[in-house]
Amino acid sequence: MNVIDSRPYELLIGERWRAGAQSRTFDTLNPATGRVLAQVYEATEADVDAAVLAAHEAYQAHWRKTTPAERGRLLRRLAALFERDREKIAWIETLNVGKPITHSLDSLKAMPSSLEYFAGIIPAVRGETIPVGNHNVLNFTIREPLGVCALIMPWNYPMTLTVNKLGPALAAGNTVILKPSEVTPLSTMVLARLFEEAGFPPGVVNVVNGPGSTVGERLVTHPLVSRVSFTGGTVTGSRIVASTAADVKRVTLELGGKSPLIVFEDAPLEQAVAVAAGDLIKNSGQVCIACTRLLVQESVKREFLDRVQERLDAIRIGSPEDPATEMGPLVSAAQKQRVEKYIRIASEEGARPVQYGSLSGAAETGFFVKPTLLMDSQARMQSAQDEIFGPVQSVISFRDEDEALRIANDSRYGLAAVLFTRDGGRALRMARGIQSGSVAINTGVRTSFDAPFGGYKQSGIGKERGLEAIYENTQLKNVKYDMSV
Ligand code: NDP
Repeated sequence: MNVIDSRPYELLIGERWRAGAQSRTFDTLNPATGRVLAQVYEATEADVDAAVLAAHEAYQAHWRKTTPAERGRLLRRLAALFERDREKIAWIETLNVGKPITHSLDSLKAMPSSLEYFAGIIPAVRGETIPVGNHNVLNFTIREPLGVCALIMPWNYPMTLTVNKLGPALAAGNTVILKPSEVTPLSTMVLARLFEEAGFPPGVVNVVNGPGSTVGERLVTHPLVSRVSFTGGTVTGSRIVASTAADVKRVTLELGGKSPLIVFEDAPLEQAVAVAAGDLIKNSGQVCIACTRLLVQESVKREFLDRVQERLDAIRIGSPEDPATEMGPLVSAAQKQRVEKYIRIASEEGARPVQYGSLSGAAETGFFVKPTLLMDSQARMQSAQDEIFGPVQSVISFRDEDEALRIANDSRYGLAAVLFTRDGGRALRMARGIQSGSVAINTGVRTSFDAPFGGYKQSGIGKERGLEAIYENTQLKNVKYDMSV
């Protein structure tokens, strides 16, 4: 399937596709080969200003006055068009992100349902009447949109993150500007073409491309942007909080993680092995909720690790375009270097890196790293504390429940946690004790559009997805009316 344009991808600003004020392009690569895949026009600060203005005018002129039914209809049309083009978008993600095609297809399956879900919960954007103790006073709330929202995405799941931010923002009555990662902009550009076809008025959705340090920074500091929804690294998230502080903007941050997978001696081992190995290889470990610290009770450590290693030895690493491939490359040369640096650090601090699988022909030219377990890790090692964002897991043993909980919480992150045990009391004690936004018991963490998602500690601020995403995208007004006057 030929899914990549030979001409540079343009910016979407208001009703026009355009090259950008300076007509400057940048290359985007195929990480499996290291070769240029396409060119993309880079926005200037003037282009960002134009996009914000277009979104602001669209919001003021008509979008904020649309009825729930109108917005719902448009989102449902978008869902149908996404379903029509889903396979094409999946191939683009495979070529631009390096995800195995089976994984791209699978991860996009729920996107039309996500858009339909947010179309469906628009009626929940409503206020309530409050009994304030005086029958002459009518006291009520109105839930209102915020205006222009900047949605900034990382490179690891460009499309699912875009759709899950976009749906609730539009459903709640906001207009948006999308800023994909400059490493993986292509799937968002194809999605952007569907808005006009779905019937969205010009300016409701805009797309600007380019580096975060210029395009992203201008976007988040623009005075007409009232909300920033950001997914990415904690350092960038913290910078965005600082950049938006002067204007006291609404900010939602989905940041990094170092999630524990805790295996107790009474665990259903088969399921625990599948989740541990699956998290290591899925999207080459470039998943914010991936369990990257394997906490194993000493009494089952040998059996558990034998079974994980058996699974990893059989992993098929190779071209993401091959349906048999289970693990592709990392997204970029920079990410590969970062992961290799952490494997060296782990070794220097006394852990024992062991790698699995083999890299055949094609895999030697792209940005590949083999799945790696850091045996004999300690909780306080740098490699067990920092987010590596690659196919690397620290293996740490524990003696009892108290120690497992202490190690699990010994992290500056708190995005997700997984535990395996057949003891229901222990499962609930641990679920309460673990400091993270998501906990999964006897299964992996798999985010879904209809359940709230967001981190504790340095993993983020606020929640996206589910009904909470509507609250995050609206502001609440309290109105008091003295009817006796
Ligand atoms: P970055 O934080 O580097 O970038 C994320 C996005 O922010 C990119 O579009 C980037 O632009 C942009 N950006 C960079 N600097 C600024 C700035 N000053 N102002 C505004 N925008 C800016 O993350 P990565 O793309 O490297 O993604 C990987 C990280 O994302 C990992 O650390 C991972 O943990 C985290 N992540 C978190 C998830 C979650 O839900 N919690 C989910 C997925 C990833 P550009 O790159 O084009 O320069």
